[in-house]
Amino acid sequence: MRNEENGERLAVERIMLNVARQDYPAGALYVLATPIGNAGDMTFRALYALSLMDAVACEDTRTTGTLLSQYGISRELIAVHQHNERHAAEALLARLLQGERIALVTDAGTPAISDPGAYLVQAVLSAGLRVVPVPGACAAIAALSASGFPADHFYFAGFLPARTMARESLLESLKSIPATLVMYEAPHRIGETLVSLLTVLGPDRRVVIAREITKLFEEVHSCRLSEAPHWLNADPNHARGELVLVVEGATGGETQDEAEARRILSILLEACPPSQAAVLTSRITGVRKKRLYEAAMQMKAE
Ligand code: SAM
Repeated sequence: MRNEENGERLAVERIMLNVARQDYPAGALYVLATPIGNAGDMTFRALYALSLMDAVACEDTRTTGTLLSQYGISRELIAVHQHNERHAAEALLARLLQGERIALVTDAGTPAISDPGAYLVQAVLSAGLRVVPVPGACAAIAALSASGFPADHFYFAGFLPARTMARESLLESLKSIPATLVMYEAPHRIGETLVSLLTVLGPDRRVVIAREITKLFEEVHSCRLSEAPHWLNADPNHARGELVLVVEGATGGETQDEAEARRILSILLEACPPSQAAVLTSRITGVRKKRLYEAAMQMKAE
């Protein structure tokens, strides 16, 4: 064996020893991230933790079965998806209370991030049991990290509503947030969503469209919102695969509190007259009533 190969093998062995030295409590739920497209993104710790599990709760037993078989792992698989999460939680809790270790995974990425999992995690915590995060890939974080936009603050909007009015009203409420916006989108809706972003946020903000991250046809395209529809239509491949949109945050010199006040104000304006929306927003945020009333009148006029 070459010296370098020997050194690499020893390094892997050292890492695995460290991984194995950590505590993996019994009677705990392991919230375990899986790759978002590239099997190489499974972590050493995730593989080691899986080897200790009594069962793996997953969205789709076939998808997870195929994934685990790539690593030579075979475990009991239990279906936990958005339609049965509450019911399945009861059975999983009973097993955890018996001292079993159960991993929660989804089809790809980090559980509970625009995926099932939050209910089960809450149920486990409420029962006084441990939840152990086993971090790894997450499409939103991968796209944000490659966007070049400030990420000290960011707002994750998940999937935007499918209907144009609801989508644009939500975007209206995000418009003034001085933080990078991150959202998931399906390929068949990307065109409409880019139009909504352009309509509500205006032509000048930059957008990063991150496609097929970690896969063969990975692409991270950056342009102004005004250019995005043209880019999308220039090649049918641009609307293919999985996508994350990252949009530059507002840069109006507003403080974060003011931006949050505007967000609350715009929601309340859907149900109340400007004066009442301003009073309520002022009570919630502490921002001055007069300023909020002026902002409400401006929003109404727009
Ligand atoms: N929990 C997952 C995570 O941690 O990223 C997200 C699950 S959500 C149901 C699936 C969405 O994530 C896709 O519609 C797409 O917007 C985004 N996504 C997942 N994998 C991706 C990839 N490889 N490249 C770009 N976006 C991806």
